[in-house]
Amino acid sequence: MQIIRTSPELRAAVNAYRKQGKRIAFVPTMGALHAGHLALIEFARKHADVVVSSIFVNPKQFGPNEDYQTYPRQEEADCEKLASKNVEIAYLPDAKSMFPEGFSTKISVEGIKEGLCGASRPGFFDGVALVVSKLLIQVMPDVAVFGEKDYQQLLVITQMAKDLDLPIEIKGAPIVREQDGLAMSSRNVYLNVEERQIAPTIFQTLQLIAGKLQQESVESVLNWGKEQLASKGFRVDYLELRDAAMLKPLDNLHKPARLLVAAFLGKCRLIDNIAVNPR
Ligand code: AMP
Repeated sequence: MQIIRTSPELRAAVNAYRKQGKRIAFVPTMGALHAGHLALIEFARKHADVVVSSIFVNPKQFGPNEDYQTYPRQEEADCEKLASKNVEIAYLPDAKSMFPEGFSTKISVEGIKEGLCGASRPGFFDGVALVVSKLLIQVMPDVAVFGEKDYQQLLVITQMAKDLDLPIEIKGAPIVREQDGLAMSSRNVYLNVEERQIAPTIFQTLQLIAGKLQQESVESVLNWGKEQLASKGFRVDYLELRDAAMLKPLDNLHKPARLLVAAFLGKCRLIDNIAVNPR
């Protein structure tokens, strides 16, 4: 595995594979890699000959009171994990080279970024769209893979790639969960022992809600779900049913939908989502 830290070296390495006629997949991450990230690498491998993965904790997507400084960083262990999955290129740029002094460009994907995580984390999706577009232009893969764990993010990036005519296929990969159903996340390390035991109820509650949505009104079922989560100790940020394609709010289940939640458990903000389809 080549470990590359600058954009010109990255371009040269990717071009060398291109000249051999190889198809390139790209998996961007913020590191602190877990089995969810590694599943994206395996997914990417099925769609390409060469896998490039990046590790970059993107300062532009953290709010002033968020965890940019304390976000888990474990470069060496991460590179070992990528190498164990036979990743050809690990790209680890630094913040100064990605966003040097004088950097002035903004990218904002209107519509899809509004509501849900966009409402509680102002600037978050602009920061994501900016770094992902920059990384995509640097790597120029044939295909880029993102997790459905961050469902709104996947749709923001899909829209951005479409609007900007990026010649890159954006693919979503399924959520990887712990055995007890908790969606894997680099931030799960923030949970204490007691919170870790409660955390899987978020997924269990989503599944119960999905069942009830087949029979009862969306509003009453979502209210029930919020009460359930609150009674377990969660502070619910949002719990919503949206249409699966554009994330427009839905007040009844008449088309493929996504049930999305964000809830705090102590200091840790957990997000999760599941597909819900009309019978
Ligand atoms: P992050 O390092 O958290 O920015 O995530 C990098 C990529 O991994 C994003 O596309 C995430 O959606 C994806 N990802 C993170 N956790 C999971 C998971 N549990 N299952 C599937 N994909 C995930």
